[in-house]
Amino acid sequence: MNHELLGDSPRAARSAVAGFLADRGEPSYRAGQALEWIYDHGARGFDAATSLPAGLRCSLDDAFSLTPLEMVSEVRSRDEVVKHLWGLDDGERIESVLIPSSTRVTLCISSQAGCALGCLFCATGAFGFRRHLRAAEIAAQFRDAAARSVELYGRGVTNVVYMGMGEPFANTGPVLSSLEVLHEGFGLGARRITVSTVGLVPGIRALAATPGQFGLAVSLHSPDHELRLELMPVERRYPLPDLMDALREYQAVKNRRLSFEYTLISGVNDDPLLAEGLARLVSDLTCFVNLIPFNPIPSQPAWKPSPPGRIAEFAARLERRGLRHAVRTPRGRDIAAACGQLRLADAARAPASTG
Ligand code: SAH
Ligand code: SF4
Repeated sequence: MNHELLGDSPRAARSAVAGFLADRGEPSYRAGQALEWIYDHGARGFDAATSLPAGLRCSLDDAFSLTPLEMVSEVRSRDEVVKHLWGLDDGERIESVLIPSSTRVTLCISSQAGCALGCLFCATGAFGFRRHLRAAEIAAQFRDAAARSVELYGRGVTNVVYMGMGEPFANTGPVLSSLEVLHEGFGLGARRITVSTVGLVPGIRALAATPGQFGLAVSLHSPDHELRLELMPVERRYPLPDLMDALREYQAVKNRRLSFEYTLISGVNDDPLLAEGLARLVSDLTCFVNLIPFNPIPSQPAWKPSPPGRIAEFAARLERRGLRHAVRTPRGRDIAAACGQLRLADAARAPASTG
């Protein structure tokens, strides 16, 4: 495979291109031009780099790949959410979702094809694990979806969340590299990028050790060990006390507010007493809780989202204990683009094969 420049830090990409140009006796300013095509113009290949001589464009394309993704499908929901299915070089498929609001366009990206963590309420979990994504493939979702955002909504992506398919900290190295590419290459503010994890402690520590004020969201879904274990097998490996320790360390290092995701499933984890437990559990952290009504998935036909009254009661308990929170209305439901629903429509097909 060609050298994938999008998987490099911008500094490494520049030195790779500069070395290539020097070997060919090209003037050094061409490296800066080439880099502008990658990050400022979002080129998917050097054939688009019209400020470079045609022969040089060809040889850059022979030596380097900019990891173009194949757009397999694009679906738009009634509420303007747009879901993309991207084809990768080996036939795997991943999804990303554009979510426009009056002030932002948030892009939700995937970190793996499938997921091995098996949370019971998640369609990606039910789908199983296919493979890790390379850093270049993660960054390419941003480049290609951001270009579509401009065409669809007349504005670019302002925020990125790693909440698509996969568990970012099951693929930590490539995910951390991709953060650097989005931030330093494509120029997105670190505070506008949030990584969502099921709670893998080594990854949380690795993010704490990474420079930059990237956001961290943790999928909690229960403050009670036994219940969390029933919903999320990861609770066996990294039980709540270990997770909380890691988050306290993270906050001591980063001095930044964390967020928690809490998906409310009717009669499963929406008892008001669990809200009290949640408030106690996180009482020594500076944090924000996102309450997400469960999005129904076929593998759990009996599970329903908590009714509005129940959600309001849960929220009121958090309020009374001074815990900041918001109820997130699911968007893109009609195209299976809401939280945890990714890969649904596609999963009915036989998995893509190689070659
Ligand atoms: N693996 C990471 C990120 C991807 S999932 C994680 O688990 O955090 C993004 C968010 O969607 C997580 O908070 C996850 O718990 C939530 N989610 C999964 N399935 C859902 C569903 N069916 N309804 C609502 N939220 C769901
Ligand atoms: Fe994986 Fe996150 Fe889904 Fe759990 S919720 S199965 S960690 S993608």
